Amino acid sequence: MAPVAAIFAGVLGSAYHAFAAASKAPSPIVVSVDPGHGGEHTPAHPNIPFDPGAIGINGLVEKNVDLDVGRRLAALLRADLVNVVMTRSTDAYVSAARREQVSIAHHAALVVSVHAGASSNPRTSGSLVLYPTGASAVFAQTVSDALTAQITPDGLPDAGIALGDAAWTRSLVPVATVDMGYLSNRTDASLMASARFRQDVAIGLRDGVEAYMPAIIARRDAIRAWRSGHADAISPGALAPASAAISGTSGFQFGAVIAWLVGISLVGLVLLFRDAVARNLVVLIALVVRLLGAVMWFGRAVIRRRRRRRRTPTSLSAPAFEERDSHRTNSVYDDIPL
Ligand SMILES: [Zn+2]
Repeated sequence: MAPVAAIFAGVLGSAYHAFAAASKAPSPIVVSVDPGHGGEHTPAHPNIPFDPGAIGINGLVEKNVDLDVGRRLAALLRADLVNVVMTRSTDAYVSAARREQVSIAHHAALVVSVHAGASSNPRTSGSLVLYPTGASAVFAQTVSDALTAQITPDGLPDAGIALGDAAWTRSLVPVATVDMGYLSNRTDASLMASARFRQDVAIGLRDGVEAYMPAIIARRDAIRAWRSGHADAISPGALAPASAAISGTSGFQFGAVIAWLVGISLVGLVLLFRDAVARNLVVLIALVVRLLGAVMWFGRAVIRRRRRRRRTPTSLSAPAFEERDSHRTNSVYDDIPL
């Protein structure tokens, strides 16, 4: 009877293990990308705030450069399976408080604020990374090193790092505010007008983020490994939104223990009433098959419910946020004569 007991408990246990494995997708790391400024002056609505940022010596408007580089950075990070939250992804005015709220609500581990600088001295040039408090200094230096490694070959000097950016002083996670170049400098401004340079900036920022937080690449590899082992379990919910990505993964260890206990108890009952079992063997086998079917159905229902919960956006989810705050849906960057 002992081998039968082991097989019985094993069947129940492996059913639970199957459900457990399906629920253990590693959650992506969240990074907040914060393109500076945004919004347009609309004469019909003079009370709607707008903020173009610096205006370049060549006519470039900072908000558009910031948004374009922010989008490029977001795409690069997403390619490494980072869950990117953008504080704005359209030409919209977003307050500093709102930017902070969005980053916190999505549990961002890091914030990269994308800007371009301007100076009254037209000769001031280079890429400068600001940090709001000393807690962000190492992150700023790491980003600065990676950024300048990428863009000094393009002809932009390294202006180092500096304490600054009052908007993020309350942040509990590291923040790097990047002034990729000076729009008041003719050479810098003409570089920022080129798509190739803006892509280089985004690559440098991506490299800096990943150098500071190696867990991003480790998590990417873990997610890929999980996906290749669960090709049939991949659903649109597998790339969970950041706010819903934190879910328990240890619950089913408990479930497996319960399954073993139930299995062993059932075998004990069979041994106690073996005469009755022998008389009603067919009926009992039918009952066991039905019981197993019910357990499997319950397990699948649990997994379905978890996936639905992951797909449900929170009140501060990016799409709802963008719908409320955006005035137009396309970047105006390409409209600008370069
Ligand atoms: Zn700015």
